[in-house]
Amino acid sequence: MKIDCKHVWDYISAYIDGDVDHALRAEIDRHLEHCEICSAVMDSTRNVVVLMADERVFEIPGGYSERLHHRLDALLLTGDSSG
Ligand SMILES: [Zn+2]
Repeated sequence: MKIDCKHVWDYISAYIDGDVDHALRAEIDRHLEHCEICSAVMDSTRNVVVLMADERVFEIPGGYSERLHHRLDALLLTGDSSG
C-alpha cells in the first residue's frame, strides 16, 4: 500500500488520536520520514491538539479542517514533495 500527502492529511487527526490501524500507521510514519510538508503539518496539527487539550476543549472548531486543507494546498504549490 502506498499513500500520498492527501491521504496523510485525511488521516492526521485519526493518527494523533491513535485511531488508525497498525499497517496504516506504519505507512504514515514512513511517509513522514521523507516528506517535510507532512511532517510540518503533523507538528502543527499536534500543537493545535495539545493547546486545545490544555484548555480542555476537545471539539475542533468548525471550518478548521477546511482551512487546514486550503493551507496544505498552498503549501503544495510552493513545496517540492517529489521523491
Ligand atoms: Zn507528504
